[in-house]
This record gives sequence, structure tokens and C-alpha cells, in this order.
Amino acid sequence: MVLSSATRQNLLLDVLRSSEEELSGQALHARIKAEGGAIGLATVYRHLRSLQQQGQVRCRHLANGEALYAPRERDVHHLTCVECGSSSALAQCPVEQQSLSIHTPTGFTPLFHTLEVFGICANCKPAS
Ligand SMILES: [Zn+2]
Ligand SMILES: [Zn+2]
Repeated sequence: MVLSSATRQNLLLDVLRSSEEELSGQALHARIKAEGGAIGLATVYRHLRSLQQQGQVRCRHLANGEALYAPRERDVHHLTCVECGSSSALAQCPVEQQSLSIHTPTGFTPLFHTLEVFGICANCKPAS
């Protein structure tokens, strides 16, 4: 069965939405294959890119360069330790949509935002 681009993109979105965690392109590809979907890794990345351009998918990069994807509506931000690489989620989004629109020039429509905080976690902090 040959799937259309739109169908494939919906499939990717479904998998991202059904996953509790963010997924890398490879993990996403592996899940689709496990469910019997025939789709190449390069195609997965191509569709992820166009989903990002449509504002449907957000992407963040780990310290090791790996990209993780999540659906746009999941507005979660992370604190990442530069020492051990562990990352934890913030309980709330610190980017207020209202203050965002104050600073956004007229005519620009924000689709999604990313925010990432890097620092030293409690475990890695030298005892003082
Ligand atoms: Zn740490
Ligand atoms: Zn946010």
C-alpha cells in the first residue's frame, strides 16, 4: 500500500501524540516499523521537517546533538545539566503567550516556541 504524504504525516503525528516521551527520528521510525508501516528513515526526517514548518511538531536538541520531537500542543520545557546530561521537565511553561505577543512584531504569527535551560544539576554541584 502506498501512503500519501498527508497520510504519512498524520501517522507521524499520531505516533508522537501517543508517546509519553519525546522521540528521536530513529525512535519514531522504529515505532512505525514495529506497527507494520513501510517508511524509510530519510522519509521520516523529511516529513518531520515539513511538520515543523507547519507548526505541528516541535523539536529540541540534546547536548549530544540528538534531535527530539514532540507534538506542538505539548508545551514542556527542560532543564539540562551540562555535566551529566540529565534533563528534567519544568512543571510549567515560563513563556507567557501574552508577553510573547507584546514582543512579537505586527504581522508575525507565532506557531510554536522552544526554550531550553542549561545548568548544573544538584547531583553535579560541587559541595560548598
Ligand atoms: Zn548533572
Ligand atoms: Zn512553552
